[in-house]
Amino acid sequence: MARTRKPVVEVRRSQRRRRTVSAYREGERVVVLIPDRFSRAEETEWVARMLARLAAREERIRPTDHELLGRANKLIARYLADHAAQVVPASVRWVTNQNGRWGSCTPDDGTIRISHRIQEMPDWVIDYVLLHELTHLVVPSHNAAFWELVSRYPKAERARGYLEGISAATGLVLADD
Ligand SMILES: [Zn+2]
Repeated sequence: MARTRKPVVEVRRSQRRRRTVSAYREGERVVVLIPDRFSRAEETEWVARMLARLAAREERIRPTDHELLGRANKLIARYLADHAAQVVPASVRWVTNQNGRWGSCTPDDGTIRISHRIQEMPDWVIDYVLLHELTHLVVPSHNAAFWELVSRYPKAERARGYLEGISAATGLVLADD
């Protein structure tokens, strides 16, 4: 994801809104909710303001990325040492625009993205998601070889159950493919 790319903005006017303006990411787009009575000038002003605010919020999430990469390297040393030459992530980042996925990996460029939604989950669940995505750098698909590597992590099954439970409770479809 190039950070310089301008987001597509969708403005939604609401008659129920009086003063509150909010913005959130929906996939590639940024949705900005504004009161219906806003003028075009107010709309322009608020869209710019909300985009800046959203960028600042995402910027605050980024400083933990270094920590996340350190954590990934520990997992690689512990569980994927024999594949270390292949498992060299170009970046490991927390992201807010995962669309219901807990993590994703692009094997071609070695980028790994982890959803901020799992930030509050137990460490052993975060480690599982990280290791799962790192393993995709060795085996891109969910085949038998993939699951065999993932099962080196002792709590893999337990973590999958935990995430499935969250999905059932929230209605969120959490999958990475
Ligand atoms: Zn996967």
